[in-house]
Amino acid sequence: MVRLEERKSLTRHLPIEILPPPRNAYIPLIQHIGKPCTNLVVAARDSVTKGQKIATAQAQIFSPVHASVSGEVTAIQPWPHPVLNRCQTIVIAHDGKDETANKDTRSDQEIARLTADEIRHIVFEAGVVGMGGASFPTHVKLNPPKPVDTLIINGAECEPYLTADDRLMVEKTNEIVKGITLIAKCLNATTVYIAIEDNKPEAIAAFQHAIRNTQYSIRTLKSQYPQGGEKQLIKNVLHKEVPRGKLPFDVGISVQNVATVFAVYEAVYLYKSLFERVVTVTGSCIANPKNLLVRIGTPIQELINACGPLDEEPAKIIIGGPMMGIAQYTDLVPVIKSTNGIILMNAQEAEELKEQPCIRCGACVRECPAGLMPCLINLACEKNLMVQAKEYGALDCIECGICNYVCPASRNLLQTIKRAKLEPPK
Ligand code: SF4
Ligand code: SF4
Repeated sequence: MVRLEERKSLTRHLPIEILPPPRNAYIPLIQHIGKPCTNLVVAARDSVTKGQKIATAQAQIFSPVHASVSGEVTAIQPWPHPVLNRCQTIVIAHDGKDETANKDTRSDQEIARLTADEIRHIVFEAGVVGMGGASFPTHVKLNPPKPVDTLIINGAECEPYLTADDRLMVEKTNEIVKGITLIAKCLNATTVYIAIEDNKPEAIAAFQHAIRNTQYSIRTLKSQYPQGGEKQLIKNVLHKEVPRGKLPFDVGISVQNVATVFAVYEAVYLYKSLFERVVTVTGSCIANPKNLLVRIGTPIQELINACGPLDEEPAKIIIGGPMMGIAQYTDLVPVIKSTNGIILMNAQEAEELKEQPCIRCGACVRECPAGLMPCLINLACEKNLMVQAKEYGALDCIECGICNYVCPASRNLLQTIKRAKLEPPK
C-alpha cells in the first residue's frame, strides 16, 4: 500500500449541497455490472414520475434503472457514457414539477417485520448497486452463496480528492446505521465493523456516538491506498486473507460501501429508488469545489457550472478518483450510480496521472465480465505479441472498459486489447 497526497482539504469541510434537477436527464441503460436493462418499461412521449422504474432486464445479474426527474421521455438513443464511451440512454425532459412515484415512508414497526427476502426484493426494485465504484447489484451481494457472519462497512474512501462518502458519514450517520442493521439482517451477520481511515475524524466521532447502543464496532485505519479495496480492507480489519480467485463470502465476510448502505436505508425506509447520489466536484481548475447531491442522469457540465467559474481550462476531466477514475472526452456524460467524483485537473496534475506499472492487484481479472485476464493480454500487446494476446482471449473482450475502470495503476488496458483485436489474422 502507498501513501498518496490526499488533496481532500478542498472539499472535506463542505456540507452537501443540493444541485437543482437537470432540464434533461440522461439515464443510461447500463449502470451496473451485469446485463444491460434492455427491457424498456417506457417509450418516447410517455410521462414519468421521479423514481419510476423505466428499464429492466431478464437476467440473474442486473439492476433496474429509474427516472430521476418527472417529465416526458423525449428519446431513447445512444449517448456518451462515463465508462462505456456510448450507451443506449433514456432522455427525460424535466417538467419542473418533480412529481414522485411514491410519497410513503415505512414505520420502524413495519421495518422490523420485514424478512431478509423482502428487504432484498426492495433493494433490487430500488436499483441499488455498489456505489463505491464497483456497481455490482446489491441485492445479489446480499444473498451470498455461502454463509456470512461478518459485515464490514467500507468508509475508507482512500482515493485522493474524494470526500462524498466522508460528508455522507458525517451528515447521515444515523441513517447509515439503520441501513447497516438492514444489511446485517439480510446476511445474518453477527459481527459488524465500520472501517474508516484516520483522516476522517469527524466521521469517526459521529459513528462513535451513533452506534453507542449497538453491538457494532469502529475500526480506524491508516490512510493509505488502496485501503478501500475489499481484500485490503478485510486484511487490515480482520487480519484475514481472501485467497486468490476467491471472494469475501468464501471466507464468511461481506463488504458494503457507506453510500450503498445509505441507498439501502432510503430504499427500505423511504420507498426511494436510487435516482440521486453525492458527488465531489473538485480539482485545481475549479473556483468553488463542492460536495453535491445530484440526480442520476445530470450531465457533468451542469455540476461543473455549479462549481465555477473555471480558474483555468482543465487538461483532463476525470470521473471517479484519480487512481481508478476514467478520463472523459466530453462533459455531456451523465452522472451514473457509481459516479462519486468529478476532478478537473490542470496540466501539471494530469501529468501525474501517467500510466504506472501494473501492481498485479488482480482487480481487472476479478471484474472482467468476459472472464479474461486483461493485465496479461495487455502485457502481450505491449510486447507486440498479438497472436499470444488473442490466445489469451482478446477476441472475447466485449470492450466494456471495466478493466480500465478498476485499474489502480491507470493502465489503459482496453486500448491495447482493442489493438490486438484489430490486428488482422496471420
Ligand atoms: S478485457 Fe474487455 S471485457 Fe474484460 S473488462 Fe476489459 S474491456 Fe471489459
Ligand atoms: S493491469 Fe491494473 S487492474 Fe490489472 S492487475 Fe495490473 S494494476 Fe491491477
